[in-house]
Amino acid sequence: TPDRPLSPEKQPEDLDRALRPQTLDDFTGQAEARANLRVFIQSAKQRGEAMDHTLFHGPPGLGKTTLAQIMARELGVGFRMTSGPVLAKPGDLAAILTNLEPRDVLFIDEIHRLSPVVEEVLYPALEDFALDLVIGEGPAARTVRIELQPFTLVGATTRLGLLTTPLRDRFGIPTRLEFYTVEELDLIVTRAARLLGITPEPQGTREIAARARGTPRIAGRLLRRVVDFVTVEGNGVLTREIADSSLTRLGVDKLGLDGNDRRYLTLLAEHYGGGPVGVETIAAALSEARDAIEEVIEPYLLQQGLILRTPRGRMLGRSAWRHLGLEAPRPPGQ
Ligand code: ADP
Repeated sequence: TPDRPLSPEKQPEDLDRALRPQTLDDFTGQAEARANLRVFIQSAKQRGEAMDHTLFHGPPGLGKTTLAQIMARELGVGFRMTSGPVLAKPGDLAAILTNLEPRDVLFIDEIHRLSPVVEEVLYPALEDFALDLVIGEGPAARTVRIELQPFTLVGATTRLGLLTTPLRDRFGIPTRLEFYTVEELDLIVTRAARLLGITPEPQGTREIAARARGTPRIAGRLLRRVVDFVTVEGNGVLTREIADSSLTRLGVDKLGLDGNDRRYLTLLAEHYGGGPVGVETIAAALSEARDAIEEVIEPYLLQQGLILRTPRGRMLGRSAWRHLGLEAPRPPGQ
């Protein structure tokens, strides 16, 4: 959305491929996932088989699409990309599946948003590499089975809980992606800064890494904006001072929170005494979709302990009060 220039959600500029790591070796972080993928890729290659279907789940911007592309490249096969909402009709998926080359990687982003009729088509495709097409209507209708080339489905989702159980069970390799450490993001920012033609100072890249919400996509966006300031107002050197002042001007605070994060925390503090508040109430008060709150805003706040999830709703953590510069109310009776 336009008022979230630094949001972790996909935006057209991500199609700029220059900064995307191309190989598993170039990919920083996610050590465990990477080590496992390396083995499964190697094994599939040695056996000459399609790699098992793989599901990446985790918050937006952590590298799900990037890893899927890397898998195809390392497997030496083609890469096709689509997404759950785009596949409106069974025929849309059938058209893609029948055009795959042997062992290709088919990437379906937002796979939790597949419609049930499209998902039905996917089951036999995943299990038997076959399509069951219904031809004709009414009593004359009959099913024909079409054989497909063996392929690897790579699904990505920000909401594992919204996947149906039968779909989830068909992925041999479920992989959870985690937020990145500041050190990992620092490596990513340093590499990208060099690719963008500026001189990174360690404290400058560190400042960006520390304010990127654990997310490479945000690190990349922050870096691009800082590079603008470095280019126009600096002398091509990314220092801590220029990183700090540019990020502050962009409304990104010391913890990496932006205006929407702070609106969320302030709402809980000032209107609800720190909670608990139900997520629906928060969504209505902020005029945001519940999904956007749960997928985009909350995961990082939870990971940082700024908010807590309780059976009765969200509560502010101690550190959030401190971060807002407010006094936490005392528990009753103290
Ligand atoms: P997702 O599919 O999980 O939303 P993407 O794979 O599209 O995330 O990655 C978002 C952006 O972050 C891309 O521009 C990508 O180049 C960058 N990125 C993601 N993971 C890494 C990484 N480990 N190292 C460097 N850049 C990364």
